[in-house]
Amino acid sequence: MLHFAETCEAIAATTKKMEKKAIVAGYLWSLAADEAAAATIFLSGRPFPAYEEQTLQVGGAILWQVIGDLSGKSEVELTEIYRRHGDAGSVAAETLQHRPKSGPVADLRLTEVREAFSEIAAARGPAAKTALLRALLEGVTPLEAKYIVKIVTGDLRIGLKESLVEEAIASAFEAPLEQVKRANMLIGDVGETLRLASAGKLAEARLRLFHPIDFMLASPIESSEEALSYFQNAAVEDKYDGIRAQAHVSQGEVRIFSRTRDEITESFPELPSALAGLPQDAILDGEIVAWSVTAAGSSGRALPFSTLQQRLGRKKVSATLMRKIPVAYLVFDVLYADGELLLDRPFHERAKILDQLLAAPLAVPISMNRSAVASQFQKQHSLSFEDSDENFLANISRENVLRAPVATAKSASELETLFTAARDRGNEGLVIKDLDSPYTPGRRGKAWLKMKRELATLDVVVTAVEYGHGKRIGVLSDYTFAVWDGERLVNIGKAYSGLTDAEIAEMTQWFLAHKTGERGLRLAVEPKIVLEVAFNNMMRSTRHESGYALRFPRIVRLRPDKRAEDADTIETVKEIFERQHHT
Ligand code: AMP
Repeated sequence: MLHFAETCEAIAATTKKMEKKAIVAGYLWSLAADEAAAATIFLSGRPFPAYEEQTLQVGGAILWQVIGDLSGKSEVELTEIYRRHGDAGSVAAETLQHRPKSGPVADLRLTEVREAFSEIAAARGPAAKTALLRALLEGVTPLEAKYIVKIVTGDLRIGLKESLVEEAIASAFEAPLEQVKRANMLIGDVGETLRLASAGKLAEARLRLFHPIDFMLASPIESSEEALSYFQNAAVEDKYDGIRAQAHVSQGEVRIFSRTRDEITESFPELPSALAGLPQDAILDGEIVAWSVTAAGSSGRALPFSTLQQRLGRKKVSATLMRKIPVAYLVFDVLYADGELLLDRPFHERAKILDQLLAAPLAVPISMNRSAVASQFQKQHSLSFEDSDENFLANISRENVLRAPVATAKSASELETLFTAARDRGNEGLVIKDLDSPYTPGRRGKAWLKMKRELATLDVVVTAVEYGHGKRIGVLSDYTFAVWDGERLVNIGKAYSGLTDAEIAEMTQWFLAHKTGERGLRLAVEPKIVLEVAFNNMMRSTRHESGYALRFPRIVRLRPDKRAEDADTIETVKEIFERQHHT
């Protein structure tokens, strides 16, 4: 563990990507297979491989208690130190420095740390977890404690993303980077990927269902002419304003994942029963929206995100809420079906496979009747239904999974017509897709284009907040936000919140709990919150670090569905700026 921690310090000490990669590659190469596998997982900032369901469930309370216990520092002192570092690992390193040693300090192997993490994950209740974490931290040096705590909090902060770890694996074992990335995507375990790479067996990696594959993303465009400048044969779908969801279905088991890779199956009890009836195992990609069933009952329309929002963030969904705000899963892609990985097939082939998959009635499994399925769900989700609710759940299940309609367009005017029709249906705009493109997970390329009403919007990360004026004097309502420049966040603007009072109040609490510095009325905060901002145009400016400023920026909404690393980059900013000056 000490060697690992020292390596992390060396990685943090350089800002150069190539140097970071070389340090990681050299380090991994020097280790035995088991240690190297554990190291890659930890270097990705995780205690466990991505596909594994275990979570430590060690929150701030447990962490502070253990650090407080071992260091003898009070909560006030720890908070003060945390404010200086903004990172729990560094707090551990600083405060545990002078504590009396308990026995000889043995060098801990990474596989032992992994086992300790598994024990912590398996332990029930905060007391048991606290004792185990304490035991782990008690026997290590402050530098080791620093990195153990960083892994526990899921953030190493040494400027190393998983993609760089993949590059390091490729370079250490002389394997093609594309193969390393693909294997890691399929199996969701960077440690196992390293083993395969070291054995020259990357090609043997097989998809592991029930761990999410990264989503393919769309680039913003501003006009229909621009859309057709990238490709001519366009598939056109409405852009639904809901949450992106990837459904994994195998042998009647269903799990649904959000863009942040969190499992959200429980939030939508209506969907699994419908998806379980698919004729084949599959991974589907689509959007979950609040759905209004029309009087005819045969079709419906998507409702705005604000309606769906009322159903989000709840552990258990009541039957009443399901009835009040029905949802539909509009499926627009298929990544895997009937044992075949479909990512490399062109869009038009995937579309056909999806048509067939969803054309068959999504019958509930033949051996069960609908009310049996409904009661199975009641048990699984510990829901209690009245008789009528049971019928309700059973009856709506079929209509909850729908094939998102696809049109094609070859000219700008056809796109305009489709755009207007989509807006008339209450949708955000269009997503225009290259009929010949493969599915490229995690990439925002030009094969999928999104056309919305605003000139352009940017997804930005909040870096600092200030108290407002007038009636907003007591709340943090002025946000400074940034985009990515490589591994760094550079500020690009500031906006007075366009959020609701309730949202501002909630965000104020969050920011106060996650501040990393304070000067006057301004707080620096952990860069975790993503916002979508709209603006009228963009200017060059020396006022912000990014070198750009936005004119009339306004917050469109919070994007809890996005992680900080999903926010836009300076390259996108440059593109928008340049486009604006060419038209
Ligand atoms: P944005 O959230 O503005 O970055 O736009 C991209 C998002 O649009 C995707 O992540 C999806 O959640 C959503 N979306 C809505 N409809 C579609 C569609 N037909 N195809 C792809 N993405 C869609």
